[in-house]
Amino acid sequence: MNVDQKLDALYEQLKSAQARFSGYPCNTHFDYSKLYRFLNFVVNNVGDPFGSTNYQVNTHEIEREALSFFIELLHGKPENIRGYISNGGTEGNLFGLNLGFERFPEGIIYFSARSHYSIKKIVNLIRAPYREIPVMPNGEIDYELLCVQLKKNNDKPAIINLNIGTTMAGAIDKQTTILEALRSSGIKNYYLHGDAALSGMVLPFINTAPIFDFRSEIDSLSISGHKFIGSPLPCGIALARAEHIIGSEPNIAYVRIIDSTISGSRNGITPLMMWYAIQTIGRQGFLENAKQCLENTEYAVKYFNQQYSIPAWKNEHSITVVFPRPNENMVQKWQLATHEDIAHIVIMPQADKSFLRSVIDDVAKNGY
Ligand SMILES: *Cc1c(COP(=O)(O)O)cnc(C)c1O
Repeated sequence: MNVDQKLDALYEQLKSAQARFSGYPCNTHFDYSKLYRFLNFVVNNVGDPFGSTNYQVNTHEIEREALSFFIELLHGKPENIRGYISNGGTEGNLFGLNLGFERFPEGIIYFSARSHYSIKKIVNLIRAPYREIPVMPNGEIDYELLCVQLKKNNDKPAIINLNIGTTMAGAIDKQTTILEALRSSGIKNYYLHGDAALSGMVLPFINTAPIFDFRSEIDSLSISGHKFIGSPLPCGIALARAEHIIGSEPNIAYVRIIDSTISGSRNGITPLMMWYAIQTIGRQGFLENAKQCLENTEYAVKYFNQQYSIPAWKNEHSITVVFPRPNENMVQKWQLATHEDIAHIVIMPQADKSFLRSVIDDVAKNGY
């Protein structure tokens, strides 16, 4: 095969794989073709988008505009929240948990056993002492066991990773219950990081959803950009209260030159993509996508239950359908994510009812 043939083959391979893409939470409905011409530049967003730099081939201004949309969506005050467009949810988790550990170097990081695997990687990377807390059957952290651990270690600050939608089942760790546990343990110094990789772009559009954003006591948040929003390049939104980033008053943060980012050279195209998604989809479009996905999630659970008596279930406010793990053939074919004896489908905007029926029909008839 020559180069062109190889590229054609790769193109067909990706096209076919994406058509059967159902277990991973990536919105594949996007059209960034208007941005292709920007690939002709050495765009590099090195440094903090709120700082200044002499590397001028950047999209910092567009990045700040995109960030201000997310800050507003998450009810933050623009002058109090800082952050950047990261390489993905993992980097946002590293950014947030590292800020917490810098704030409280003598602290312990707490997270549930259903946390994304990035959390364990991060605590090892930053060499933080940690406690992994078991979960309840729906995937929420076991608050009583958390409380036991907090009480045992109440001489040390607590840095807590809250799952705002676990990867496998979309379970949400309740901040109010965790705050009660902190209070009853007597711990006064704590830092709360929210891992909202997927649900961070769904929950803001549900009136009845628990409050996880900057109206609450959350100190930092991580959201993936290539999941619910959709992007061909992985990216994320990393946000934290400004006081943690520079360790001083927010108004001073605004004028100081700071570099809070994890990477050096940074993607300048993904902030542009996030900005473009905001301009073209907008708050209303995200809201409609969230509503449609939630409705289709209910539909898929019912279809599993009623059509096939398969005990599929979902957590409240979640777009993840959990069901008994089918055979490897089905797992491969539909690219289902699995954990022990369960599998899931994440209902993204491209997964309409007829697509869902074809996946469920196949899994039910050929999967067990
Ligand atoms: C996907 C996911 C992550 C990691 O995000 P990436 O963008 O893949 O780095 C972290 N936490 C949760 C809950 C996730 O679902």
